[in-house]
Amino acid sequence: MTRSISVLGATGSVGASTLDLIRRNRDDWRVVALTAHSNVEDLAKLAREFGADIAVIAQDNLLGALRDALAGSGIEAAAGRAALCEASARPADIVMAAIVGCAGLGPVMAAIEQGTTVALANKEALVSAGEVMTAAVEKHGATLLPVDSEHNAIFQCLQGGKLAEVRTITLTASGGPLRTWTKAQLDEATPAQAIAHPNWDMGAKISVDSATMFNKGLELIEAHHMFPVGLDKIRIVVHPQSVIHSMVEYRDGSTLAQLGPSDMRVPIASCLAYPARMDTPMDPLDLAAIGELTFHAPDEERFPATRLAREASQAGGAAPGTLNAANEVAVAAFLAGNIPFSRIALMVERVLSETELPPAPQTLEEVLRVDEDARRRASAMLETC
Ligand code: NDP
Ligand code: MG
Repeated sequence: MTRSISVLGATGSVGASTLDLIRRNRDDWRVVALTAHSNVEDLAKLAREFGADIAVIAQDNLLGALRDALAGSGIEAAAGRAALCEASARPADIVMAAIVGCAGLGPVMAAIEQGTTVALANKEALVSAGEVMTAAVEKHGATLLPVDSEHNAIFQCLQGGKLAEVRTITLTASGGPLRTWTKAQLDEATPAQAIAHPNWDMGAKISVDSATMFNKGLELIEAHHMFPVGLDKIRIVVHPQSVIHSMVEYRDGSTLAQLGPSDMRVPIASCLAYPARMDTPMDPLDLAAIGELTFHAPDEERFPATRLAREASQAGGAAPGTLNAANEVAVAAFLAGNIPFSRIALMVERVLSETELPPAPQTLEEVLRVDEDARRRASAMLETC
């Protein structure tokens, strides 16, 4: 039976992996909406290839260019944030949420409000909105499937198990490309070095997050919302080979792990086919060739991000959204060459600690206000540092 899908962030890394799987199983899927931020050319190409109903570009001023690129195709073109949310709310069996950053929150909430299945890669949206998003999932009878490889692993290890019987959840972390660098070396890390991930091929923002360990910090908060077992039961272990994607330990001492190649098509396929399975072009896992799987505790002296995330998650309310927004501003500044690598965590810590945070957001509008407020404070800090 044909299923329908919308891909938010279609021109990105997760978007490309998703569409690769759709391409390989073309007859099984009908594409409703594809979206991008500014990459009109690739968006139009993908919309034509997949015969999408609508293509949406987030930047308003690119509507004309998108219309030109889609001329004669019969595909609807739209632009701007409201159009993005409207397209996300169009009926689809599954919505792949693969926009990067809190910019994806409005579209994710619009998809949730149609009560459909949302495959969530866009962790920043869940980190910022927290209970506002989980409550909306409940209210609208939507299904949230985790695309993030760690959360997808945990989700798979929980099949047939009960959260009440979970003793611990362990998120594995590759440690990123700068894992073995000294503090002094980290001060000198360039954007090119920070995004050169040893195991995963990802967008620039998450690659920097992986290098700072903010990715694992965001994932800790993400896991806390997706699998409510209590923050104290969620652990992080560095596992440089990225073969075990995460683990669940049950109260009888059994630990279940999910293993696989470092390719996002595996967790994406698990979401697209859920609760069934689908083929992917992966080679069989060759553990003898891999040889060794190693593990060590994270070093929060050199990489304070996981500590900051745990503290923000414990504080709750506006703290996780503030942490996320400050990190987004700091990462953009680092990628633009405006601040050194080690300033990212310092900035986040200062934004979280310098002023009193607003009260816990209760609505999407309040979540977005927390986000804007933290961005304003982080940007002001950039001007003074
Ligand atoms: P990319 O940077 O590769 O792609 C981001 C996508 O979002 C692009 O389609 C981009 O459009 C679009 N986009 C960017 N900014 C905006 C905006 N302001 N409004 C609307 N659309 C926007 O990111 P990734 O694919 O790497 O990551 C996407 C999400 O998935 C992130 O939240 C990330 O943390 C998460 N994730 C990614 C993994 C990976 O392997 N890449 C693994 C696990 C999670 P355009 O091309 O026009 O700029
Ligand atoms: Mg991950």
